Amino acid sequence: MKMIYALVCLLGGVLMAAPQQQTVEGLPVHQVEKAASVAQPSNRPARNVILMIGDGMGSEHLWAAWLCNRGQLNICTLPCTAFSQTYSSNRTITDSAAGGTALACGVKTDNGMLGQHPDGTPMQSLAEWCRGRGMATGLVVTKAITDATPAAFYAHTSSRKNTPAIAESLSKAGFDVVLGGGAAAFSTEQMERMRDGGADVELFAPGDCPPASVRGDLLPRNVERALARLEKSGKGFFLMVEGSSIDLAAHENNLDETVREVLDFDCAVGVVLRWMAKHPDTLLVVTADHQTGGLSIIDGSKKSGRVTGCFTTLNHTGVAVPIYATGAGAAVFRGVMENTRVPLLIRSVMAQSSPLSVKN
Ligand SMILES: [Zn+2]
Repeated sequence: MKMIYALVCLLGGVLMAAPQQQTVEGLPVHQVEKAASVAQPSNRPARNVILMIGDGMGSEHLWAAWLCNRGQLNICTLPCTAFSQTYSSNRTITDSAAGGTALACGVKTDNGMLGQHPDGTPMQSLAEWCRGRGMATGLVVTKAITDATPAAFYAHTSSRKNTPAIAESLSKAGFDVVLGGGAAAFSTEQMERMRDGGADVELFAPGDCPPASVRGDLLPRNVERALARLEKSGKGFFLMVEGSSIDLAAHENNLDETVREVLDFDCAVGVVLRWMAKHPDTLLVVTADHQTGGLSIIDGSKKSGRVTGCFTTLNHTGVAVPIYATGAGAAVFRGVMENTRVPLLIRSVMAQSSPLSVKN
């Protein structure tokens, strides 16, 4: 009897054990942009808007990267901050399709749906709204360009898995810049159509681009390339940049790769801040669609660039995620807001001459 009791206790102990801890240390450190050279928040209307989405990037992912980068991140220098509530129309825990649709179209939809109201009505995305105003538009990502987050900016379908329809939508959307992965989803004809009129389109992998530890500085370089192209637009531009693979690494509960992905995304933010120093009529918003992995930080040292953390789930979580902003109109980002308010606020900052309703 005693023996059985001991076995039950042992088994219970194993099942109840704390999530496995991981320690990351000694990653390459990057310097952040000097605050003095970075655009400050202003009240002027935004001519250009750059929306940067860290897929799955909660506060915990940011602060883990902050520790590993010796207590500094470009993202954490942005002066305006807020929180975004990420739940979807049918779930407390959103997926990237509903999360992307909220950030792109300003509407809460059901998990799995892209660019549509839950009743199936197509909703205009921020990219489409900007294009309607004669602005240039661009997408830069590290996973397949047909993945849920970027797709929310151009596709209108009830299923994020409908890749052929999503690819067809992108080939007809008229973006000026498309850089990322996912080449296998497109025919030669579709690629040619996307490049019509001289758009800068390059897909670097058949599926997702490799993880940050393998692909190097592809994302920061592509952001630089996109800005060089888009700044030639006479009527301003909208650029969506996604640190797409943060989510992937966190789903795998891989702390090392999660931190590397956030650091890579932060380097891309640095590229934008450098560019904005010369283009102060630009709004930069950095946020996430949801938190992935339920990461918790339980130890670390910014002095030695070390973090110890553990994940609590293989899926997304329901916590609010941070919003950081700077540049033209950035001060509207404050307090706790629905994720759907993000694109509405961006539109209001771009259209200050003709005020829009920003009610949810
Ligand atoms: Zn995910």
